[in-house]
Amino acid sequence: MSGWVVVAGLGPGSEGAVTPEVSAALEAATDIVGYIPYVARIAPRPGLTLHPTDNREELRRARHALELAAAGRRVVVVSSGDPGVFAMASALFEALEGWTAPPPDIRILPGITAMLAAAAAAGAPLGHDFCAINLSDNLKPFALIERRLRLAADADFAMAFYNPRSRSRPDGFARALAILRECCGNGRIIIFARAVSTPDQQVVTTTLERATPEMADMRTVVILGNSATRQVGPWVYTPRGME
Ligand code: SAH
Repeated sequence: MSGWVVVAGLGPGSEGAVTPEVSAALEAATDIVGYIPYVARIAPRPGLTLHPTDNREELRRARHALELAAAGRRVVVVSSGDPGVFAMASALFEALEGWTAPPPDIRILPGITAMLAAAAAAGAPLGHDFCAINLSDNLKPFALIERRLRLAADADFAMAFYNPRSRSRPDGFARALAILRECCGNGRIIIFARAVSTPDQQVVTTTLERATPEMADMRTVVILGNSATRQVGPWVYTPRGME
């Protein structure tokens, strides 16, 4: 039987947010490849081999998936959220560029990305134009992050921030908050959504003035409103139109 590679998004956490086509691919798989906590979400069963690996191993992991598929295995590479958002789908295509053998059958199956699950938990803060920025400077210089923050603020986009803060990068998020205060003012609404769609979910709405770096960690996606974003009861929303 010929092998294949599916790169699948497991959604933000809850089983209900895994799409039926991703569940079907997981059931058909012989091998699951991915970052340790994501592979841990897959129930072991006879005939299924789990290959959990550390992060920062993305390209090697992608090559491994191609090799397994070339050997006839049915491989699912798992990502949290959506596999095309700061995740494994791009890594697979990077690996494919250096792949000289005939490519195996490849499919990318989307999932609910963290910012959309977080936005739904808070209300509708992404109801107008928005952008997503990865605040990790592992793969790009901080100067580029700063430029994008300033330009997005200037264009009055709402913004979603992935990978806001980690132990290896304790200071970057404080710098990002300082830039945003300078560009957007102290009163701008900001949402810290942690572990959305898991039992640990916590959603905190505050203003840039009150926001502190400690409010974010690697399980948090941060949403900054645009200039029209406001609260109605417990909800935060951004109106659909702007004058
Ligand atoms: N592919 C993933 C993103 C991977 S980058 C997706 O589409 O969601 C990892 C970052 O995603 C984390 O640092 C955090 O900012 C965000 N994230 C992932 N799952 C999350 C969740 N359940 N709740 C809040 N943020 C989450």
